[in-house]
Amino acid sequence: MMRGSIGWSCVLSVACLLAPLAQAKEPPRFAWPDGQKAAVNLGYDDALDSQLDNAIPALDRHGLKGTFYVVPANPPLQLRMDDWRAAARNGHELGNHSLFHQCSARGAGREWVKPERDLDRVSVAQMREQVALANTFLQALDGRAEARTFTAPCGDRQARDGDYIAALGDMFAGIKMVGGTAVVLDMATLDPRNVPAHVPVDASGAQLIALVKEAARRGTMISFTFHGIGGDHLSVSDQAHEELLAYLDAHRDTYWTATFLEQMRWVRGQQEKAKAARPD
Ligand SMILES: [Zn+2]
Repeated sequence: MMRGSIGWSCVLSVACLLAPLAQAKEPPRFAWPDGQKAAVNLGYDDALDSQLDNAIPALDRHGLKGTFYVVPANPPLQLRMDDWRAAARNGHELGNHSLFHQCSARGAGREWVKPERDLDRVSVAQMREQVALANTFLQALDGRAEARTFTAPCGDRQARDGDYIAALGDMFAGIKMVGGTAVVLDMATLDPRNVPAHVPVDASGAQLIALVKEAARRGTMISFTFHGIGGDHLSVSDQAHEELLAYLDAHRDTYWTATFLEQMRWVRGQQEKAKAARPD
């Protein structure tokens, strides 16, 4: 058949006419490692006691791995170093959440930010050095020399003299930023240095499960940033957390629950593959 010509049988067939339209509408689905529909990262910020006492035992019961963004300068980490070391040995990721957890003290709800930890008073160069030192600390804690991931405290990026997150360059395999959409909208254009993270507070199990289902519907990922589990600040109940974990455990064919580092390595690999395949 000549190029561009259409057989009569095809012209008369509605399905034949609509097929190219349907193909054009559906972008190719992003490939996850074992054909799952979505990736889910269970992230926990601030190294809280309730994470060691409640979250990690729950993850271990379900054989799931989480990512814990710890703050070296905070007592919960200093007082229970052996417990955190054991969590890392057990396959959980220890991530960088800066050395001193600096956030801007400006605006409502930021009264708790101490003057010596006010991001508005720290320079970009100081933040960069402290974040690099936090990586060295983490390596001393868990013995891992590999790449790390980072979550910006409070989702803030503006230091005294500029955007310190931008100044981190390629220091990290992935960076989570709070704010933006809960579920990633498009994997092809996702910037690993600016991955939206969702912070659930007082959420029910059903609400958490609805979010992972939305990620599966889109074929993308959702990155949770929990804080307290069954205690501490910005908490989610043990029951809601357990319901989400049980759901992910029971639907492993649909959800790839893994550390943020593993997921960012995978996403970068897939994005590079797609780039190499694209004609210039
Ligand atoms: Zn934090």
